[in-house]
Amino acid sequence: MDYLQGLNPEQRAAVEQTEGPVMIIAGAGSGKTRVITYRVAHLIRKGVDSFNILVLTFTNKAAREMRERITHVVGTEAKNIWMGTFHSVFAKILRVEAEKIGYPSNFTIYDTDDSKSVLRAVLKEMNLDDKLYNVNFVLNRISASKNNLISWQEYNKNEQIQADDFSSGRGQMGKIYEMYATRCYRAGAMDFDDLLYKTNELLKLHPDVLNKYQHKFKYLMVDEYQDTNFSQYLIVKKLAAVNENLCVVGDDAQSIYAFRGANIQNILNFEKDYPDLKVFKLEQNYRSTQNIVNVANSIIRNNKEQLKKNVFSEKEAGDKIKVMRAFSDNEEGKIVAEAIMQDRSSKGLKWGAFAILYRTNAQSRSMEEALRKLGIPYKIYGGLSFYQRKEIKDLIAYFRLTFNPNDEEALKRVINYPKRGIGDTSVDKIIVAADQHGITPWEVIVEPGKYLEGKISGAVGTFATMIQSFQVLARTKSAYESALYIAQHSGLLKDLYEDKSVEGLNRYENIQELLNGIKEFSEREDIEEKGLDIFMQDVALLTNDDNDKNKDADTVSLMTIHSSKGLEFPQVYVVGLEENLFPSQMSLNSRSDLEEERRLFYVAVTRAESKLHISYATSRFKFGTLISCEPSRFLDEIDPKFLELDYTARPTTNSNASFDDDRKAWSRDKQPDTFSKPKPASQAPVKTTAMLAKAHVPSANFKPSDTSNLQVGMEVEHERFGFGKVISLEGNKPDIKATIFFKEIGQKQLLLKFAKLYII
Ligand code: ATP
Ligand code: MG
Repeated sequence: MDYLQGLNPEQRAAVEQTEGPVMIIAGAGSGKTRVITYRVAHLIRKGVDSFNILVLTFTNKAAREMRERITHVVGTEAKNIWMGTFHSVFAKILRVEAEKIGYPSNFTIYDTDDSKSVLRAVLKEMNLDDKLYNVNFVLNRISASKNNLISWQEYNKNEQIQADDFSSGRGQMGKIYEMYATRCYRAGAMDFDDLLYKTNELLKLHPDVLNKYQHKFKYLMVDEYQDTNFSQYLIVKKLAAVNENLCVVGDDAQSIYAFRGANIQNILNFEKDYPDLKVFKLEQNYRSTQNIVNVANSIIRNNKEQLKKNVFSEKEAGDKIKVMRAFSDNEEGKIVAEAIMQDRSSKGLKWGAFAILYRTNAQSRSMEEALRKLGIPYKIYGGLSFYQRKEIKDLIAYFRLTFNPNDEEALKRVINYPKRGIGDTSVDKIIVAADQHGITPWEVIVEPGKYLEGKISGAVGTFATMIQSFQVLARTKSAYESALYIAQHSGLLKDLYEDKSVEGLNRYENIQELLNGIKEFSEREDIEEKGLDIFMQDVALLTNDDNDKNKDADTVSLMTIHSSKGLEFPQVYVVGLEENLFPSQMSLNSRSDLEEERRLFYVAVTRAESKLHISYATSRFKFGTLISCEPSRFLDEIDPKFLELDYTARPTTNSNASFDDDRKAWSRDKQPDTFSKPKPASQAPVKTTAMLAKAHVPSANFKPSDTSNLQVGMEVEHERFGFGKVISLEGNKPDIKATIFFKEIGQKQLLLKFAKLYII
């Protein structure tokens, strides 16, 4: 069987072991995902019906790529395989079975914004302090409960949980969870965690349904198994219980979602759950050079909790890992962009060969700016999804209401947008009446006379009639015709058209783009049902990577390390290796959190195929102030023999310097400055003169000017901060403060009477 020739003997054995429980726990780049791909192809070649295979991947993109590869081996049969993320696969099953657990089949999927909005309303109604009951905190707590399959009823009965909540002063948590769950249910909506929680409920309460899927999915495979949570673990276990043809692959060293409830126990339990389990070890890394693999090994060795593995590469030793230092986040962007530019031409690479990985989304700004300046095309992955934009959400809210008028969040969003004279007071009245009668706001507005005392704006009735007309239309028309009609008759298109600002134009174009997407969907030939309801089904689960029209464009990829899991790039830049950023400040309180950060670093490093760059900045803007940064402890953990320090970006410093020199400089700067006010303990000290003096050499004709006529928009040069543009001026003479955006160091506020500025 020639198609199995691209496997080494151990991989091949794992592929051919199609029956019974199989586990592959192996290091990064050792071919785990490749084994799953080949295994599926092999199953189909052996005669297994492609409808009987379920593959759970980490992203929908990973599933698409896997399907493409399988198609090469088995042809169009690959179309029938159930393949996707846990959320998308089980949302699809829930659509079919929802009524069995009391939901409409066109239930809405609430995204995180919707969930937060529901919680805000609950907190308001319960008169609770939203600082103590911070929305993110509350949502995390509810999410963790659901992922551990704790219902609100159990939550309220569990003495330990109750005691913990009371001791932290949050005794109302259980009640909030109850109200939140009740509201979502009443609105016919499931949040992201519900997609797994309700699947568990469905499989538990309906043995016939469980039985059906157990027999349907004769072969199950799960990629990135180390990042499954309890809820996911149980679904897999239940579905596999009859045939036990379950193959999971993962790497404990890459477990990076503990904060979301992923549990390494799932790997350890596996042996207990399946005593006749076959375990395969893959040790050869096919992705990276020896230097990169060695660096990765030397990083992960510092973790106490790990399953021992011996990972090696037989590729060439390769270049050493280049460590680059910058004096600011903006300069870091600049040296990364320049290095990419240079490597591309000297090595004859495409832009697509490069990836920049960072710990937090906020770091993309300085990278983007620098890339843009040099005209380097790039794409941000996993950023704000197209579907998260306000105008898109507005139009989609109309679609949501059309199919599920009980969807309270959608109703609140558009009942008075575009403005139609339904004020907040009316909306509040409607919601209060709905709560009083235990019905949905929609039920109130279709029969206002029955539920509302006194008069309410006639516009409410007109709104209800309009939504009803959309409902009638959507039953018979194509997705595109319905969508266009709704965009026009809701007034949304007109409202955006009339907004002639640049943003307004942009929003209008985005709506056009959404409509074009729906049109394409309406014209697809490979699906039978093309109604708007079908288009809408998993819109809430789409990320901007799924909506990538230019996926073949040659661009540099930017993404957080979390979203880089499973991917590989020839040239990788891991940026921001600084204490309190990476490892993150929040991880410094416990060993297990710190170890998770280290695993994250391991993931980042192991994405690189032939060349890895690591960078850090010695100062960075955070929350509007410049803070000085200490190099990350992770840098010290790497055996220096694999590193090449490139400090050319700061010619003023000794190029043989080590991280320790930076650390010494950092602790010197950290000494309390006797002239300034004490700084909050949580903030690293502001480092200015010493460092920035080196940064900018004033131009020859620099001389401080009279700034009394300074105006917004003027370009200036500052003695130390360099060139910038005035963004705003506040205060009265002589205490006018100017906010200036400096090219090199970003935004800064200066008191004009002291600032040494030269107006250009
Ligand atoms: P990660 O832990 O990062 O998810 P992985 O273990 O899933 O990695 P893959 O992505 O499957 O690893 O494989 C890494 C790279 O090595 C891929 O480019 C893959 O095609 C290649 N590869 C794996 N096994 C072989 C092999 N036997 N021969 C040639 N190339 C291989
Ligand atoms: Mg993989």
